[in-house]
Amino acid sequence: MSTELSVVIPVFNEAANLQILNKRIVAVLTQMQLTFEILYVNDGSTDSSLSTIKQLSADDKRVRFIHFSRNFGHQVAVSAGLENAIGNKIVIIDADLQDPPEFIAQLYEKICEGYEVVCARRKNRKGESWLKKRTAHWFYRILKKITTVDIPLDTGDFRIIDRKIAEILRTMPESHKFLRGQIAWIGFRQTALEYEREERLHGSSGYTYKKMLRFALDGITAFSDFPLKVVTWFGFLVSSIAFVVILFAFYSRFILKDYVQGWTSLMISVLFIGGIQMIAIGIIGEYMSRMNTDIRKRPLYIVEESNIEENLDKH
Ligand code: UDP
Ligand code: MG
Repeated sequence: MSTELSVVIPVFNEAANLQILNKRIVAVLTQMQLTFEILYVNDGSTDSSLSTIKQLSADDKRVRFIHFSRNFGHQVAVSAGLENAIGNKIVIIDADLQDPPEFIAQLYEKICEGYEVVCARRKNRKGESWLKKRTAHWFYRILKKITTVDIPLDTGDFRIIDRKIAEILRTMPESHKFLRGQIAWIGFRQTALEYEREERLHGSSGYTYKKMLRFALDGITAFSDFPLKVVTWFGFLVSSIAFVVILFAFYSRFILKDYVQGWTSLMISVLFIGGIQMIAIGIIGEYMSRMNTDIRKRPLYIVEESNIEENLDKH
């Protein structure tokens, strides 16, 4: 019998949470009467997470695992899980119990109404620092403004997706993964359900500010070339200010004759070169951005439905 649901769980130093997490997931899925697998991706944990996972999988053959040789990062861990999951629907959930496993029931019910993606949107976040909440809040809002992809606000990777989406993700071989952006980019029918984000049960966050910053930059560079456009605009701005100042420099040199020796030529060259340089950087950036899209090798489009094959058969 085919597996109806896979639960993908990235794990980085979560030893204290795994037993209870596993228990709660099994309880929910059993109650839902689904055939399922639980797939742990151990992202180079340095604690006893691996032995706990091995124990869990020895006790229950529906528990599978992948163990990385070192810490490759959360997004890579989730990607590995999605690549190896065998279920018809796949849930991505954190290991620290911030995402309540019981919510999987609602996500599953919703996706069966005819969606390909149902995200879990945080209504609030408990037990996280003020700075983390604020930076996340603004990051998602700015990202939304500067990209053409409709990335849902206040959602992490806690969601359920159809197998189809996981298969398309495999055709996007970009190495800097930003899954919530990639999934939004793929399209189809996507919706969100709200949930209360709990406090982490044990341990501490594996997302340092350094990792968060890298993640934010991955998101921006993969889904927007706005920062680049700013350089070009700035170049034109500096150039037009330069033009006005250059006129003024000539005016004071030749008409007012009120000038300091060397000021005119110095101002003109500095402003002129400054503006030109910035425009030039912007132009180079535009080419780089195009190369960047080609290097990513994303498919150009994704077809949901067509009758091309039917017509071919008739000929
Ligand atoms: N995680 C991971 N690799 C990392 C950092 C985190 O696999 O390098 C896992 C972690 O075990 C958890 C999930 O990703 O299951 C979310 O991480 P965390 O709870 O540390 O982030 P936060 O909730 O603080 O944003
Ligand atoms: Mg967490």
